[in-house]
Amino acid sequence: MKNQLCMKELVAFCKRKGFIFLSSDIYGGLNGFFDYGPLGVELKRNIKAVWWKNMVHDREDMVGLDSSIILHPNVWKASGHVDGFSDPMVDCKVSKMRYRADQVFYSPVAISGEVIGYICVVDSEDKDAEVEKKVKALLKAQQKTNAIIDPLQLKPITKASVEEYALIPSPATDKPGDLTPPRNFNLMFQTQVGAVASESSVAYLRPETAQGIFIHFKNVLDSTRVKVPFGIAQIGKAFRNEITPRNFIFRSREFEQMEIEYFIPADENAWPEMHEKWIRTRFNWHCSIGIKKEWLSLDVHENKDLAHYAKACTDIMFKYPFGVQELEGIAVRGNFDLTQHQHASGKSLEYFDEERKTKYLPYVIEPSVGVDRTLLALLISAYDEDGINGEKRTVMRFKPSIAPIKMAVFPLVKNKPEIVEKARQLFKRLKSHWYAVYDEAGAIGRRYRRMDEMGTPWCITVDFDSLDNHTYTLRDRDTTEQKRMTEEELIAFFELQLN
Ligand code: ATP
Repeated sequence: MKNQLCMKELVAFCKRKGFIFLSSDIYGGLNGFFDYGPLGVELKRNIKAVWWKNMVHDREDMVGLDSSIILHPNVWKASGHVDGFSDPMVDCKVSKMRYRADQVFYSPVAISGEVIGYICVVDSEDKDAEVEKKVKALLKAQQKTNAIIDPLQLKPITKASVEEYALIPSPATDKPGDLTPPRNFNLMFQTQVGAVASESSVAYLRPETAQGIFIHFKNVLDSTRVKVPFGIAQIGKAFRNEITPRNFIFRSREFEQMEIEYFIPADENAWPEMHEKWIRTRFNWHCSIGIKKEWLSLDVHENKDLAHYAKACTDIMFKYPFGVQELEGIAVRGNFDLTQHQHASGKSLEYFDEERKTKYLPYVIEPSVGVDRTLLALLISAYDEDGINGEKRTVMRFKPSIAPIKMAVFPLVKNKPEIVEKARQLFKRLKSHWYAVYDEAGAIGRRYRRMDEMGTPWCITVDFDSLDNHTYTLRDRDTTEQKRMTEEELIAFFELQLN
């Protein structure tokens, strides 16, 4: 299996090639916010378009929706977000650093069963190295540099007893007593609607797109011919005031979700099979767009870890450079949300099942995936290095359907007007069908390398022979093989590959 890039290299690569920039970069950036550059925006649009095509258009049991970002505040009261959408947070009183408590790990350091102190680190790509450094420093401070310590027992700080808590040092200052006790922090961003700010004008930026779907369940039923089982899909921005946004676009404060609420009969016997089906569908989808299968896995939540309203949940995990983490969650939510909204709004959301001759609030299966986490997994999967004629090459092996740019047209030389004109004509025709670019700057080998780094699957070169026999060389990004083709053959080839 090839090695992954480390995050630092990936972040630098993304900036250099125009995939992803820090938001407000010239002002020093804004923590937890990112912008997509010329290549990133194409990649993102392609991911969303393929998801929409596969999950909505290719199926007969799905319809789409686009709800507003700001919903009636009562939506978030009914859904439980106002009271419960929070993470435990700890502050370092001295350094003013703020951490998500479940991402801060501590361990006693003991020699032959006797605890000599505690170490505390923040979960990260370099966690193991940090742990080693802190243990060394502790041993040195206690003049026990060469002592053999008992195995460490790293646990999240949320699991520490009150007695232990007082002894655990802050990860920033390494001094016990500097951390505040964990307290809950609501992740929803608040805003005011209307000109006069008051308590009644408070509204929230949605922390998920799902609630917009639930509240339109009845409108969709009444306006379309859908019948349970069916799903409603939505793609849109979501906002969470994450305590410690990190790992690049993996955990940001503004991100995009692609969510499905798939409504099924409220039947205890029906949901397990449907859940399995969705897990398989979604796992295969990630493979189909080019995410490496060997880096994907499933995490089945144990009953004790489920939210009170959930019947089951399986996450699709990806091996990111900073660890195996959630890419997509596929939860069975029962009919909690519809029940809550029916109760809070006073409007019936019941479904009349003609086949079963009965009314009920359907159960729901919710495959929910972040666009940004998908894009990050794709970048990591696509990145590759090889050697061409003894020269190192970086190549993004995107599937053609996902690749930001589909093809590039090059005139072999830029000082031969006949060649340039022929290349421009071909470019014009190709770009009327697909996203193509034209490049005449530099040696042809350099132009190929540039396109390889952007992940462009094909380059077409117009040369002297093209003037005589009207054929062009088509060069394949992955094999670097070249074939001569006429214009019509090129069009037929791309139609087969891309449509
Ligand atoms: P995590 O446990 O990693 O915070 P979550 O379980 O809270 O994630 P969900 O509420 O299930 O996430 O959201 C569904 C999907 O939305 C996630 O699987 C992920 O792909 C994406 N997502 C959630 N939070 C963020 C974030 N802060 N930044 C980017 N994507 C996110």
